[in-house]
Amino acid sequence: MKTPLTNLLGLFYPKKCPTCAKIISNYEEILCLSCRMELPETNFTENEGNMIEKLFYGRIPIEEATSLLFFSKRGIVQKLIHQLKYGKQELIGRFLGEWLGAKMLHSNRFNSLDCIIPVPLHPKKLKKRGYNQVSSFGESLSNKLNIPMIENKLLRVSKSNTQTYKNRFERWKNVEEIFEISDINIFKNQHILLIDDVVTTGATIESCCTQLMRTKNIKISIATMVITE
Ligand SMILES: [Zn+2]
Repeated sequence: MKTPLTNLLGLFYPKKCPTCAKIISNYEEILCLSCRMELPETNFTENEGNMIEKLFYGRIPIEEATSLLFFSKRGIVQKLIHQLKYGKQELIGRFLGEWLGAKMLHSNRFNSLDCIIPVPLHPKKLKKRGYNQVSSFGESLSNKLNIPMIENKLLRVSKSNTQTYKNRFERWKNVEEIFEISDINIFKNQHILLIDDVVTTGATIESCCTQLMRTKNIKISIATMVITE
């Protein structure tokens, strides 16, 4: 809610649009209206057999999948995600989550979900950045869809191996990050929604799913903020 105090503060610290840097008015949220109108929506949510679902065909069994926006190089979406990841603008994630959540509710394709799992950051990266950019997105999806978000059960860890390696390539492989689930029974018989910021090749999501699929009778759906074309 906008109080007189926030209006007053707005005079001294005007809010800027994260993508065009124009000062935004009190009734504009997060983005200025013209940037908001320019965001390239995918319309995947209501459409089965969409591009993100096709991306995973033959790789991992997915129930339903959607992405909210298309990514365009140097464009507005890239700036938005950059501000979310590196500019401490977690509100952008909340805004995108509310938007996508409303569409998911409306589509009736995502009715049987039990919980939301964000793709985790490596603990070192989390400490450095201070937050997982996918968490605020997950929180607002959780509110909209009325299902819990479960963090810290799917983990990103360094693959540690104390063996001595022969060449540079193998040494590089040595510091690779992998995913792990802390308890393989926790998602038993659950339909989970795995969420991430940007999907490009799908490799990250695929490796999360490979871990999650160690769980008995798990079903997986996917939602991302952005997909690259
Ligand atoms: Zn703008």
